[in-house]
Amino acid sequence: MICLGIESTAHTFGIGIMDNDKVLANVTDMYTPSEGGIHPREAAEHHSDVCDKVLDDALEEAGIEKKDIDLVAFSQGPGLPPCLRTGAVFARSLALSLDIPIVGVNHCIAHIEIGKLKTEAMDPVTLYVSGGNTQVIALSSGKYRVFGEVLDTPVGNALDKFARECGLKHPGGPKVEKHAKRGSKYIDLPYSVKGMDMSFSGVMTEAMRKLDEEDLEDVCYSLQETIFAMLTEAVERAMAHAGKDEVLLTGGVAANKRLQEMLSTMCNERGAEFYTVPHSLAGDNGTMMAWLGILKYRNSGGDKLNDTAFIQNWRTDDVEITW
Ligand code: AMP
Ligand code: MG
Repeated sequence: MICLGIESTAHTFGIGIMDNDKVLANVTDMYTPSEGGIHPREAAEHHSDVCDKVLDDALEEAGIEKKDIDLVAFSQGPGLPPCLRTGAVFARSLALSLDIPIVGVNHCIAHIEIGKLKTEAMDPVTLYVSGGNTQVIALSSGKYRVFGEVLDTPVGNALDKFARECGLKHPGGPKVEKHAKRGSKYIDLPYSVKGMDMSFSGVMTEAMRKLDEEDLEDVCYSLQETIFAMLTEAVERAMAHAGKDEVLLTGGVAANKRLQEMLSTMCNERGAEFYTVPHSLAGDNGTMMAWLGILKYRNSGGDKLNDTAFIQNWRTDDVEITW
């Protein structure tokens, strides 16, 4: 079965094509704001500008034609409404014109399922860290339960905001990582983990304040040490609580080597396994939609067209995991 998956929840428009568990194509085009954060309507305009080109590129990469597609899957939520709408409309028109089934899938769960396909993780605690999300998730009684999450600004967004404050260009996360490598002095910053939930606004504000008196390298280093220790603590607690011995790291922030190192050390100490989703499939992409689409379709068939409206705040633990 060949499934074409569409991602459009936020800054990325992506199309991936899978033939069962084989990736045939993974093409993305990312909207980058000229200044400031993501403007939802501008991002949606970007998606409608690039969608036909991304489709052509994906078909070419896969070496197939439109008529070879058996199923269309799309990210139905959660996300920014104008972006979600653009993706849903594109998906529906493709399914209708080709007269093939359509399935809407949950963005966060797609991150987990492609991670399980592409690593040896079987039943992990997933740390999903991106621009718009920070969640600690594990399967329990048939649903992916959110054991911990951010109470304010998601980690990628927090790093991007901090970087903007320093005059660094978007996306900020990789730049903060680069400067942090040259830092060595640990500056005390507010550390806030409540149970398995985290708050990043205090640490961000204080880090910005420290820029007046400390070196950028040292502030970046301390910021990473503090934020990543919070994430690692929440993940470790979730592992103990849910009785899991694997960790899966995904989302755009998963690219960070220091975060990988901290989680890996924690896993080693517990005798647990640590996996990072390959870079090209860790950030937002259409391929993970295609894979979750195949899993869902095999299990429960296609969606009725009436059920394909986007769901802005679709929670991870709203979805029954039947595959
Ligand atoms: P996503 O929303 O999953 O596409 O991920 C984008 C986010 O990942 C942005 O906030 C980036 O700043 C962040 N990011 C990308 N690479 C890194 C990195 N090496 N370290 C920290 N954050 C990163
Ligand atoms: Mg994402």
